[in-house]
Amino acid sequence: MPPILDNSHPQGAALQNVPFPHADILEVADQLIPEERERLAIIHEFLQTEIRPDVGEYWDREELPREMLPKLAVHGLGEVELSGTSRLFRGLVYAEVTRADVSLSALVGIHNELIVGLINALGSEEQKERWLPGLRRFTNLGCFALTEPDSGSDIAGGLSTTATLTDDGWVINGEKRWIGAGTIADFAIVFARDTADNRIKGFIVELDRDGVSTSKISRKMGLRIMQNADMVFDNVLIPAENLIPGAESFADTNEYLCNSRAWVGWQAAGLQLGIFDKAREYAVTRKQFGKPLAGFQLVQEALVRILGNTTASLGMMAQVAHLQEQGNLQMPYAALAKATATRFARESAAAGRNIGGGNGILTDFDLSKMMADAEVLYTYEGTYEINSLIVGRAVTGQSAFV
Ligand SMILES: Cc1cc2nc3c(=O)[nH]c(=O)nc-3n(C[C@H](O)[C@H](O)[C@H](O)COP(=O)(O)OP(=O)(O)OC[C@H]3O[C@@H](n4cnc5c(N)ncnc54)[C@H](O)[C@@H]3O)c2cc1C
Repeated sequence: MPPILDNSHPQGAALQNVPFPHADILEVADQLIPEERERLAIIHEFLQTEIRPDVGEYWDREELPREMLPKLAVHGLGEVELSGTSRLFRGLVYAEVTRADVSLSALVGIHNELIVGLINALGSEEQKERWLPGLRRFTNLGCFALTEPDSGSDIAGGLSTTATLTDDGWVINGEKRWIGAGTIADFAIVFARDTADNRIKGFIVELDRDGVSTSKISRKMGLRIMQNADMVFDNVLIPAENLIPGAESFADTNEYLCNSRAWVGWQAAGLQLGIFDKAREYAVTRKQFGKPLAGFQLVQEALVRILGNTTASLGMMAQVAHLQEQGNLQMPYAALAKATATRFARESAAAGRNIGGGNGILTDFDLSKMMADAEVLYTYEGTYEINSLIVGRAVTGQSAFV
């Protein structure tokens, strides 16, 4: 990407006479076609100037800045999955949103990968017509309801929410936990076990239906802007046509869970771009012992460690995007990328936070916020351990899950 900052910007001043000041040091974004590269630069500029400076206060208050959604929509972030752009572009867009704020990138990513993308590919024509126009503009929101209070890592086998087909439609019963945007969405894609054939199927459940109740999960250490919810479905009647026709078994949704795992890899890469930006900025401006922190060997090693982790994550994700482009992304590839990039992100976040010293624990300096958010990336979309077990099984032939 072209240098974004000028010398009127506080960080811009610190970039003078620096040959390689940017976090994407190996220029992965250079692989994009010129139009996508230009569009990415515009999105980067928008996110860094209009979003990143304001999100910290919302993060502290655990509030979603809903007024930011129309702005995100103007830049096409409600319809990334329908944009016909390259996989690399889409991944780098997700990385740029994360570079500005992890919670908003979770909202944008789940919205695109698991709501818009899934309805577009697996939904009926009626479902597409009903929901896609509003979703594209962020005037409608959906949420993805898979995890349950008693089943997280073992959800595929342990899922206990039920769907029973009656003469009046499907009746949904069960509880979901951790559902992003669950208190503010218009509908949920609920995964439930069909009591007739025991298969896990996906249903669109409008959240204003009788029997649906949601409550916000408060006091999270990370992803504090995202409104995660506990949800209860108590004899909720939905029309028969709310079954998503392409999601009639868990295997049908595998491609989307695979893509969303890759998306978290991009989040981890983008978070590290943000960590490098902030840690570098702090190191070149903060002086101790009469010179900038950046002039000390140990601080340089920490910065280079962050940069190395970031670059390795970006390069790996670019290859994942290439495999997606060819229709060749398999779950062990996505699991390896997600596990590794989030492991790197956690190390980078701790190193970046430490460069900030005391200021590194304040939301104002972003570094502590990014460190807390890194923990969530490590856990959701399959924990580090579960993704490692997926790869471990693929490379040894031995299943070590139970
Ligand atoms: C902020 C946030 C947002 C989320 N958003 C959504 C969402 O929008 N929709 C949704 O459906 N879900 C969502 N989730 C749920 C998320 O996917 C789960 O938290 C995750 O799958 C882990 O499940 P769990 O929390 O129940 O942990 P558990 O499964 O109870 O795991 C606890 C620990 O045990 C380890 N463990 C479990 N099994 C094994 C094993 N066999 N071997 C070794 N270690 C093991 C895990 O790795 C973990 O460290 C979200 C979670 C969070 C925290």
